[in-house]
This record gives sequence, C-alpha cells and structure tokens, in this order.
Amino acid sequence: MLITNHVLAGALIGSVAPGPVCAFAAGVVSHFAMDAVPHWGGTSIRDVLPIAVADGLVGLAAMTLVARATPRGRRTRVVAGMLGAAFPDTDKPWDLFVGGSPFPQGWDDFHGRIQVESTKRMPQEVLVATVGALLVRRRLAALR
Ligand SMILES: [Zn+2]
Repeated sequence: MLITNHVLAGALIGSVAPGPVCAFAAGVVSHFAMDAVPHWGGTSIRDVLPIAVADGLVGLAAMTLVARATPRGRRTRVVAGMLGAAFPDTDKPWDLFVGGSPFPQGWDDFHGRIQVESTKRMPQEVLVATVGALLVRRRLAALR
C-alpha cells in the first residue's frame, strides 16, 4: 500500500487519539490492518522505484502539510499517528540505502505474510488517497 495512504490514516487516528504514545501505537496497528486489505503491490521495490520515490515524497509532503494545518494542541499526537502509521514501511528505504531490514525476522515475516497485493490495484490506491485527503481536511477543519 502507498505510504501516503498510511500517513493519511495515521493523521485521522492521531486526531482522535488521547495522546502521542497511543497515537503512534494505533498508527502502527493501522498500518498492518491496511496492509491486510487487498492493495497495489506485488513487485520488488526496485522494479517500481520511480513510483516508490514519488509516493515517499508525496507522503512526506502530506505529513508536513497536515502537521502545519493541525492546531498546536493536537499537533504532537497527529504527527505521532502519521509516524506510527508509516513506521513499519521504513524497511523499504532501509533496504535500498543500507541493505536488509532494521526489524526482527518475525516482524518482517508477519509484515510480508499479511500482504494481499496486485499490480492492477493502483486506481484503488489513488481513490483511497483522495478519500483520505478529503477526510483529513474535514477532520482538521473540525478541530479549528
Ligand atoms: Zn507495509
């Protein structure tokens, strides 16, 4: 699943979480829940590197924009939710730049085992991103 979609889900989770630790933990759980839903993928990241890099940059931009748009009183937990939701996929850039994975083998096995991926589901990813962005925008407006 695109990291941008994980980030948007993490923002929503952080916006309703009671604090940053809970937001981060719930963000991590949301990552695995979303990865268990059929989504785009199924090829090596090296084969789709331009998409992965673009997604990483869009996800980072989304994190920055959401953090800036979040009222100060909720900002820490919203950022924590986004970071938690993105955290499990830090193995992808780690593998590219360092090699291997920073996580224990059991974590990686679980993360790999829950994936239901198809290379034909990019339209679904774009739809989820669009709906996610609209929901985050609406939620942030309600917080102001
Ligand atoms: Zn993942």
